[in-house]
Amino acid sequence: WTAVDAFQFPQLFPPNRPHHAAITHAFDNSIAHGLEDISVAPSQGKFLSIQCQIINAKHVLEIGTLGAYSTIWMASAAPDIKVVSLEIDPAIAEIARENIRFAGMEGRIEVIVGAALDVLPTLAKDVEEGKREKFDFSFIDADKENAIDYFNWAVKMTRAKGVVYVDNMVRKGLLADVQLAKTDPNVRGIRTAVEGVGKDERVDACILQTVGEKNYDGFLMAIVK
Ligand code: SAM
Repeated sequence: WTAVDAFQFPQLFPPNRPHHAAITHAFDNSIAHGLEDISVAPSQGKFLSIQCQIINAKHVLEIGTLGAYSTIWMASAAPDIKVVSLEIDPAIAEIARENIRFAGMEGRIEVIVGAALDVLPTLAKDVEEGKREKFDFSFIDADKENAIDYFNWAVKMTRAKGVVYVDNMVRKGLLADVQLAKTDPNVRGIRTAVEGVGKDERVDACILQTVGEKNYDGFLMAIVK
């Protein structure tokens, strides 16, 4: 599906949709501020939005905000979806907030600044104590080194039959490179995550490989039992 993008099939991304300008702005404004072009592709953003609609998500967790491009895609899935997104870099979070304000979604998207491993325990405590709702959909898209830890926290906070989605799990086939895993912490992180999730009795999971504007990659999708 990632081969289907906004340029090849503009009818899938109609410009008259209320969210379209906000999504375009989030991308353009992020690039204008010098952020790296590492957000999800438009087709993947739409896929995330469709996933949220399929499971009727109302509460979404994102780890790795960048300019809130994927965040705004997910928040666009329904008018009453709320997204909590974690970003380590305060300057990047400020650009994300600017894009969220432009989208008129500041009441529905909360950006929390901090290293995810520092923020997640507090968030999980809030969920456990009922101060926050459990998440229906969790999207993990930060550093790959800690992917398995992010996954474990996300599973704790995601409701039964909810979905945990981890991006960039194939990385041009690097997942399969055992030698590189010895020296590259991101490749090691991906491999550790795949092995860990495969043995995890709390979830049922699969990895899908994709090809598209952002090269050959893939994502892991787990349903919480
Ligand atoms: N989800 C975004 C999108 O598709 O528009 C892209 C996220 S980008 C690939 C990864 C983001 O995670 C970066 O903005 C980076 O600063 C952030 N990040 C990296 N390490 C992090 C950490 N330990 N905790 C929280 N955020 C982190």
